[in-house]
Amino acid sequence: MDIKIVPLDESKLRTPPTNNFGFGNTFTNRMFKQWYSPEKGWHDAQIGPYEPICLDPATAVFHYAQEIFEGTKAYRRPDGNINLFRPWENMKRFNNSARRMAMPVVDEEDHLGAIVKLIELEHEWVPNAPGAALYIRPTMIATDPALGVHASKTYLHFVIVGPVGSYFKEGFNPVPVYISDKYRRAVKGGTGAAKTGGNYAASLLVGEEAKAKGYSQVLWLDAIHGRYVEEVGAMNICFVYEGKRIVTPPLTGSILPGVTRDSVLTLGKDLGYEVAEELIDVHEMLADIKSGKITEVFGCGTAAVIAPVGKFGYRDEEYIINNNEPGPVARHMYKELTDIQFGRSEDRYGWTLTIQVA
Ligand SMILES: *Cc1c(COP(=O)(O)O)cnc(C)c1O
Repeated sequence: MDIKIVPLDESKLRTPPTNNFGFGNTFTNRMFKQWYSPEKGWHDAQIGPYEPICLDPATAVFHYAQEIFEGTKAYRRPDGNINLFRPWENMKRFNNSARRMAMPVVDEEDHLGAIVKLIELEHEWVPNAPGAALYIRPTMIATDPALGVHASKTYLHFVIVGPVGSYFKEGFNPVPVYISDKYRRAVKGGTGAAKTGGNYAASLLVGEEAKAKGYSQVLWLDAIHGRYVEEVGAMNICFVYEGKRIVTPPLTGSILPGVTRDSVLTLGKDLGYEVAEELIDVHEMLADIKSGKITEVFGCGTAAVIAPVGKFGYRDEEYIINNNEPGPVARHMYKELTDIQFGRSEDRYGWTLTIQVA
């Protein structure tokens, strides 16, 4: 793919922040874009100024949510170079999401090449602060300017990047999680396994309800029985039994196949834990927390890496895990994963792609 590099207006350049990164509010000076039409395929690839996109009010994505996205990060290594973590998995998943949403796939090598080029140009924006990284958000939207309900013929694919701080502002703090009996995130046969905007829109109402009750995330149960645990917030979920067995639900079609989840399963096994993918009944799970058989619960995803769960709230009862403190397995997994991501330990799995900038 030939990427045209569009010059920036030097008078409008912003400089990278050095602290208070936040999450998802700050972006670099440049973005990647390319367009799709049935006649031309993907065309006019360019890296140019980060700027608003001007679209007709009838544009398909605004009405029928035909859109997909990805989320991955670039990490500053001790030697000053930059690591991407398993980016090939994100490229593959982007195309899997595209197929599910009746959108055209992009060439995976071209897509990754565009991200690498963008990061090379914006390398000064990759933070050099503990836990901070450059968040990468590839997106594709349907751009036909018409209200007919069918797959769009034209699309825009873009990538924006911006610095993000450590997810844990006040240290590695456990999150309180609300279990709703009423709302579901995704159903087998639906779009839960695709990273598509509608899944998140559907989760906002109960998210607000949880916040009003003092919880910061929602535990999702399967939509058919309202019984099996699926995910927590926009993360996959792991349970630790007796400090040595890590269990996560199997990918049954309504769960997003997380790269962090897969990494925890691989690493966990090599670090001497028993790991398993098993259906987890919410009632058994809560009883196992009460009896102390479940010693830890944590979410896993790119943003937080590992997010310990301190308690569940279900039908006006609270279930406290490990005294509402982060446990040793969560800490262990967090350290091992972030050491590989930031290039502080040897990459035994070939998971990282290093971009030379130092
Ligand atoms: C992105 C996402 C995850 C985590 O995936 P990672 O590849 O580990 O970041 C889990 N669940 C949902 C719903 C997601 O959107």
